[in-house]
Amino acid sequence: MNFYIMTLFPEMVMGGLNNSIIKRAMEKNLITIEAVNIRDYTLDKHGKVDDYPFGGGAGMLMQAQPVYDCYKAIADKCETDKPRVLYLSPQGKTFTQQMASKLSKEESLILLCGHYEGIDQRVLDRMEVEEVSIGDYVLTGGELPAMVMVDTIARLVPGVLNNDDSAVDESFSEGLLEYPQYTRPENWDGELVPEVLLSGHHKNIETWRKEKALENTKNKRPDLYEEYVLTHPAQPKKKHKS
Ligand code: SAM
Repeated sequence: MNFYIMTLFPEMVMGGLNNSIIKRAMEKNLITIEAVNIRDYTLDKHGKVDDYPFGGGAGMLMQAQPVYDCYKAIADKCETDKPRVLYLSPQGKTFTQQMASKLSKEESLILLCGHYEGIDQRVLDRMEVEEVSIGDYVLTGGELPAMVMVDTIARLVPGVLNNDDSAVDESFSEGLLEYPQYTRPENWDGELVPEVLLSGHHKNIETWRKEKALENTKNKRPDLYEEYVLTHPAQPKKKHKS
């Protein structure tokens, strides 16, 4: 899968992504990530990419020309006919795990990072962007949201996680939050690991985890829990002590 990130701060984006699991995925050629500097495409001889908004108001806006020329250069070299362009924007649809899962099936994605007060509307319309937000708050730029999206999507690409199951069994994948987890030692400062996890009895462990996932979701995210019980009416009875 190929990610193209249109940004004024390519070093920031690559610095944030070129680490750990995502770095390994790039090294294994499971994904490619290219941060493309929009400023490289400006026709302004001083390298300017922004200007004042017509009608007045605070701040500066990114201009259409460099954004569009940068987009065309990426689209031209992209193997996908018309790659989807996701514009990171606080006005967009909220990014979710479900959205990430669908996007991980794409061959290429272009992520457009705004800065300052945003981008001239005409170029957003011309590129037919889909607006995506990472939450109801306003950041200074789309770089952190782009990193959040690439990280979330990339780990769903087959082979990126060592064990493909680890993306299946975690929070949100089934509409529930994950159950609590424990590692060695069995006794840490007098606190013991729940007995069932040491039993080696897979069925009991599975049932316990399901119960705990339900309990966790009910306590921490009652909204998700309500939705889950509406769509999954029969729940297992509680059998094991914590
Ligand atoms: N003036 C814009 C508005 O009120 O909708 C906000 C512009 S914001 C200061 C600058 C850039 O940061 C945006 O163009 C967008 O790319 C990015 N951004 C800010 N908050 C975001 C969020 N919650 N999700 C995704 N991108 C965001």
